[in-house]
Amino acid sequence: MARYDFRTYRLFVPETLAPGARLALDRKQANYLVNVLRMGDGQALLVFNGRDGEWRATLACEGRKSHSLVVGERERAQPAPSGLDYLFAPLKQARLDYMVEKAVEMGAGRIRPVLTQHGQVGRINRDRLAAHVVEAAEQCGILSLATVDEPRPLTALLEAWPEEEPGRRIVFCDEGHPGDDPVAILAALPPSPLAVLVGPEGGFSEAEQERLRALPFVTPLPLGPRILRADTAAVAALALVQAILGDWAR
Ligand code: SAH
Repeated sequence: MARYDFRTYRLFVPETLAPGARLALDRKQANYLVNVLRMGDGQALLVFNGRDGEWRATLACEGRKSHSLVVGERERAQPAPSGLDYLFAPLKQARLDYMVEKAVEMGAGRIRPVLTQHGQVGRINRDRLAAHVVEAAEQCGILSLATVDEPRPLTALLEAWPEEEPGRRIVFCDEGHPGDDPVAILAALPPSPLAVLVGPEGGFSEAEQERLRALPFVTPLPLGPRILRADTAAVAALALVQAILGDWAR
């Protein structure tokens, strides 16, 4: 698959994109392009809105406080949204921001916080996480924006799962099976929509682990002999899933 343009800066814009469209930049966007990225009049960048693909655009500096983008041609079509869900017990702010950004870079399409018995964080700032989703997408040229759900208790999620998510399998990062081979476990799975589930820093409770291991739509996945921090486990598990079953393999 041809690599896409990594040299040119990217900016998320909410507006509809079409050839010749002129998009007025707000103060924050203008400051980012002109003062942070030091872009000048006529300089090219890439814009996307999460719906219409990726378009080339040029910066028009009409005055000290007035800047806009003039949209040119479409560079890449809008890809199908990622079908990979990422379920996780929210961590404290900085690690949570990092983990969400990594999940987006690894191709998660739906960010789903779950509340577990040992989880330390009960609430999340969805707008803040959504902003990190956009930032990760701008930095990595991802055109489909992952959605961020409200937190939901794990027990309620599992109860509703067969009805709400028929056919979607949960790959549950389970530190209780250190000796098993994660590659063989994933390679043996039949094709299906997937979700990856990672626990809190305090781990899943015994009851949660037993419940998860017993569910027919859950596959426990060991991640080697060492206990990983939750954000490390997230990247490791998503890498395995994408490499063996996901879009790294195709
Ligand atoms: N405090 C727990 C570990 C929690 S690590 C303990 O000491 O046992 C946070 C989460 O990362 C876990 O709930 C699990 O989902 C995942 N994880 C960490 N290490 C793992 C491993 N070796 N195998 C599978 N999952 C792991």
